[in-house]
This record gives sequence, C-alpha cells and structure tokens, in this order.
Amino acid sequence: MLEIRPNCELCDCDLPANAPHAMICSYECTYCASCAQGVLKNVCPKCGGGFTARPIRPSQAWRKGLGLESHPASEKRVHTQFSTEEIAAHVARIRDIAPAYR
Ligand SMILES: [Zn+2]
Ligand SMILES: [Zn+2]
Repeated sequence: MLEIRPNCELCDCDLPANAPHAMICSYECTYCASCAQGVLKNVCPKCGGGFTARPIRPSQAWRKGLGLESHPASEKRVHTQFSTEEIAAHVARIRDIAPAYR
C-alpha cells in the first residue's frame, strides 16, 4: 500500500493525499510536479527512475475498511538525502534516457 507522504522531498511543499500535482517514482519517492518536471527532469534523485502522478486515495469508504479513514496518509515528512550538486550531476547523466530504457 502506498505511504502517501505529506510533502515534496525537495522543496518541502505540502502534498496532501488529494493533491493532484503529487508525483511518485516506483519506490514512492514523492515530489511536487514542479520539482519533478523542473529541476529533476523526470529523474528520481534516488533511483533514477521516472515519475508518474500519485493516485488519490478516496476520502470516503466506498467499500468497508478502505479509504483514507482506514488507511490515512503518512504524516512523516521525508527529505532527499542528496545535495543540489549531487542531484544536478545525477539528472544530467540520466535525463536523456527515456524511463523505459534506464
Ligand atoms: Zn517540490
Ligand atoms: Zn526513486
């Protein structure tokens, strides 16, 4: 199950569970669309994979035991462990390779 992290790991803006602009990589590294498409150029600073929009977990329990009430979003803010320079070098190395070929 997705953790649904509460913030962008780079700029630290809030990304509530229903944020339409939250992006994740396959490891759930989470960024706002502005960072993912801007400075990161669709390259995850950690794994090097691309991003996709984070699915929105329904706030209502449309079926018993499911939805945000049963499985709330994480409140633990996460911050990337890499420096601006490290990220720039990593992105430059990978950005021109399409995610399917990385
Ligand atoms: Zn951001
Ligand atoms: Zn990643």
